[in-house]
Amino acid sequence: MVKFKSQKLDHEKVIRDPVHNYIHIRDKVVYDVIKSKEFQRLRRIKQLGPASYVFPGATHTRFEHNLGVYELTRRICNIFNDRYATQHPNDGLWNPEETLLAQCAALLHDIGHGPYSHTFEHLFGTNHEKMGQAIITDKSTEVNKALRQVSPDFPDLVAQVIAKTYPNPQVVKLISSQADADRMDYLLRDAYFTGVTYGAFDLTRVLEVIRPFKDGISFTNKGIHAVEDYIISRYQMYQQVYFHRINRSMEVILHHLLERAQTLYQEDKRQLPVTPQLAAFLGGKWTLEDYLALDDGVMETNFSMWRNSNDQILSDLATRYLDRHPLESVKISEETKDLIPKLKKLIEAAGFNPKYYTATNSAFDEPYDAYKPSGKNAHSPIEIMQEDGSLIELSKVSPLVKSLNGTLQGDERFFFPKTMIQHSNEPQIFDPIYQEFQQYIKNNELHHLEK
Ligand code: ZN
Repeated sequence: MVKFKSQKLDHEKVIRDPVHNYIHIRDKVVYDVIKSKEFQRLRRIKQLGPASYVFPGATHTRFEHNLGVYELTRRICNIFNDRYATQHPNDGLWNPEETLLAQCAALLHDIGHGPYSHTFEHLFGTNHEKMGQAIITDKSTEVNKALRQVSPDFPDLVAQVIAKTYPNPQVVKLISSQADADRMDYLLRDAYFTGVTYGAFDLTRVLEVIRPFKDGISFTNKGIHAVEDYIISRYQMYQQVYFHRINRSMEVILHHLLERAQTLYQEDKRQLPVTPQLAAFLGGKWTLEDYLALDDGVMETNFSMWRNSNDQILSDLATRYLDRHPLESVKISEETKDLIPKLKKLIEAAGFNPKYYTATNSAFDEPYDAYKPSGKNAHSPIEIMQEDGSLIELSKVSPLVKSLNGTLQGDERFFFPKTMIQHSNEPQIFDPIYQEFQQYIKNNELHHLEK
């Protein structure tokens, strides 16, 4: 194991944070990463994208989330170093020499995110994980320069932890597993800024019972209820906040808006006013530098220009996005899915291009999976350590978690212009179209939703 050269700051820096109270910085490398322009850029990217259209307080950014994950990791490492520091090779305890690596990986785990990542990646072929690796390992970045002060291979090691290829699973699972510092921070932070009470769980207690074992991170059996509470909080946050139908509707509009801009730009560059930072992506040729020049402000500037476009679809979608006019939606199932082509025909007859004014969108989440064989949380069950040091997987000791284990929670929805169901107040020549549409919705018990 390489010893990392960790230069300490002369004075500890502290940053006030509403979730963790204080974020403590003692290592110069951490401070230098935070000061880098690639990290500062995260101040200009909202953590939850369009969720602030539903929860106006949720304008917090990726900047404070990354700081929060760093702070939680720092606290957990402190606990490990105090109570569970390794004595002999392979004793399954924590190696204090990996503390700095874990902290830097935590700080940078989301560095590759751009504005509206989800929608953006889908349309322009970017990938926040690959971009993150590039920002950390490319010698041209300030992040890379800051990390290199520790050792020449330090940027690569940080990138490995985030990519989950680093050999020690304890370090990897601290940042990425079903009970990691990332989730603990975003649940508490998103709950705080949205103003909902679901995400709150007893972090103090969780930190009291967390401990390392040979293959990762576990919790002692005194902490079952705190961990249970954390799983339930996560489940509720997904159902109530992340999967909110208006949030998803605004994402649909954003997707169609960018899709329309891309089409217009590729047909004829001159017909679309666009800032140079975004033009590179609409044209399909972009560099790391272009990627780093994007943020929410750049995107919103373009949307504001498009509001006045001669292209009706573009200007209408931009207006809907900026002024929050969500699409309406209904829940669909395997039985009612066949209706969608008919509904789309009626929407087209009412004057809307279905390509830009309809969408199906599914949002499903696994609240907890003990045996997940693949994907983001493959093989990362939450283990509870018994008095004798043996491990029991969480759903075996918690009936609550057992009932959620392996289930998929969420729904699939069909999105369409609100006029299709609110039109009846102002009768017009096309009324039969709306009546037929509304009949389909009623007769087939497509669930038109809850306010
Ligand atoms: Zn994160």
